Amino acid sequence: MNIIKSNISFVSSKLAYGNKPDTIVLHHAGASHCTVYDVDQWHKANGWAGIGYQYFVDKQGKVYTGRPENAIGAHCPGENDHSIGICAEGSYMMETMPTVQKQAIVDLCKYIKSKYKITKIGGHKEFYSTDCPGIKYPLQEIKNLVTAATAPKETPKYDETPPAENDRIKRFLGNFYFEKRTDGGLGIHLDRGNYITLFKGKPPVCYWNDNKGNSGSKQL
Ligand SMILES: [Zn+2]
Repeated sequence: MNIIKSNISFVSSKLAYGNKPDTIVLHHAGASHCTVYDVDQWHKANGWAGIGYQYFVDKQGKVYTGRPENAIGAHCPGENDHSIGICAEGSYMMETMPTVQKQAIVDLCKYIKSKYKITKIGGHKEFYSTDCPGIKYPLQEIKNLVTAATAPKETPKYDETPPAENDRIKRFLGNFYFEKRTDGGLGIHLDRGNYITLFKGKPPVCYWNDNKGNSGSKQL
C-alpha cells in the first residue's frame, strides 16, 4: 500500500487527539477535480484545523494522508472520535468512479481494516443526513470487495453433484456423463468437479479435485 505523505500543516491549537478508529466512513469531495491541498484549504476556510479526512484518494488512485489517524476528524458528526474518513476526488452524484480509484479505496480500506480490526464500513449518508458520497459512488461494491478480500478462507469444495442432463449433457455407463461443451469441446464427467476435456487437435486435459482443498488440472 503506497501512501503519499501530503505534509499538510494543521492549525495545532484546533487539532484534538484521541481518535480510536472502529469505523471507516467513505466520502466524495463533491468536486470533479481537486487535490488533497484544495480540500485542506476549503476546510481551513471553515475555521477548522485543516483537512477533516484522514485520507484522500485521487482519480489516478493515488492515496494521500490527511489528518493524522489519531486526531479527531472533521468529516462526519457523531463518528469523528472513532473513525477514519476517506475522501474520494470526484463528484459522485453525477460521475462514474474510475476503476483505479475504486481499487485504491478498496486497498486502503483493507489496510485500515486490518490495522484497527475494523468491522464497520459505511458511506457518510449511512451515518448522517447527507447525499455524500453520492448516488453513483460504488458504495456496496467497495464494501463487498473489502469484505471478500479479508474474509477467512474456506476450504474449497468441489461440486460433486452429477451434471444435470439436458440437450448437451447425457449420462452413460452408469455414473459418467458426456458433455457437448459450449466452447466446442467434449467433456467426460465423473461429476461436476472431476472431468476430462477433449478438443480437436489438442491433448486432453484432466481436471481433478479431492474435495480436501487440493485441486488442479493436467494435460494428459
Ligand atoms: Zn461526506
